[in-house]
Amino acid sequence: MTSYPTPTGERILLSPPHMSGRERSYVDEVFATNFVAPAGPMLARFEEQFLEATRFPHAVAVASGTAALHLALRCLGVGPGDRVWAPTFTFIASIAPILYQGAEPVLFDCDPETWNIDLDLIEEELPKAAKSGVLPKAIIAVDLYGQPCDQDRLSRIAEPYGIAVIADSAESVGSLLNGRHAGIGATCAAFSFNGNKLLTTGGGGLLASSDKTLVEHARTLSQQARMPVPHYEHEEVGYNYRMSALNAAVGCGQLEVLGERVARRREIFDHYRRALGNMPGVRFLEEPQGARANRWLTALTLEEGPEPTLLVEALDREGIEARRLWKPMHMQKALKGVSFVGTGVSEKLFGCGICLPSGSSMSEAQLEYVAGKVQSLLI
Ligand SMILES: *Cc1c(COP(=O)(O)O)cnc(C)c1O
Repeated sequence: MTSYPTPTGERILLSPPHMSGRERSYVDEVFATNFVAPAGPMLARFEEQFLEATRFPHAVAVASGTAALHLALRCLGVGPGDRVWAPTFTFIASIAPILYQGAEPVLFDCDPETWNIDLDLIEEELPKAAKSGVLPKAIIAVDLYGQPCDQDRLSRIAEPYGIAVIADSAESVGSLLNGRHAGIGATCAAFSFNGNKLLTTGGGGLLASSDKTLVEHARTLSQQARMPVPHYEHEEVGYNYRMSALNAAVGCGQLEVLGERVARRREIFDHYRRALGNMPGVRFLEEPQGARANRWLTALTLEEGPEPTLLVEALDREGIEARRLWKPMHMQKALKGVSFVGTGVSEKLFGCGICLPSGSSMSEAQLEYVAGKVQSLLI
């Protein structure tokens, strides 16, 4: 095994899974009841536990965050000929489901303070789009790096036009804005429990909403749109998107420690900011007023000093996994030709930003090691 110059000799990863130790007993329960399937009491339990933790009224657990977003678009009737407005500064999974539905994405630049979709820009562009007869059917707003987007404001802007708002809260489980969970206030919200997210089911996602009809439709679609009759009856075509009970069991053990996990990620962020915040040109992503972000990943920008690619490579040599910020979607070959309403902010962030290891299982020694290495590379 390769040894690294880190405190434990192991590579320090960006955001590895962090088990609570309770997951195994839930997995054993699934085995004991033989519900090894995308059905059964463990799945219901995971959904209930999620609703309790977040105060969303309804939820369906699915195979991935991408599947949750796809179901959201499908349930809102987005299809060929429709436009969907979405941020450019995000992971491709925010945009891909728009294309799965044969709809047209229109990418928007991000706010320089929150890094989320630029709401001033949306507010400015909507009346113009209305005049030209090219209004979107839905707007997707991402809570980037755990930073909750102001869904109330976005909904207020979109509502007069009858546009639905989808929160891509994939990175934001446990984040709050004005005391309410991230994604509340949007028409529906998608979450991810992929291996690198704050909370993992080993791969999974969830769609939550206050709209019971929407969630129940998504549930049906996630199970091949089987109607509740004893034989195989389908009134529409669905997907095989339901979460498996084994993944849900892992999720039950994870949800029990959600509060602790968020608290630890916030501590990690604070540690980095204390250690590096006063260095020339360094800026951390600040929380908007009223927000309590989960700080999934600590993100910062460097106005001076090394190029982010060089910094990531130099940290890699020290056994540290850092990453550049999201490469904007309008710069991706896969999305060539997609419309883009730009201000230059996302390109600038991509040009000077990185994410540091932020896993909640990091020890103080590892944290100090990373902060020290970054510090020495910035001088
Ligand atoms: C992780 C992520 C997704 C997709 O979730 P998966 O569970 O990996 O499918 C969607 N949007 C954003 C912003 C993400 O970070």
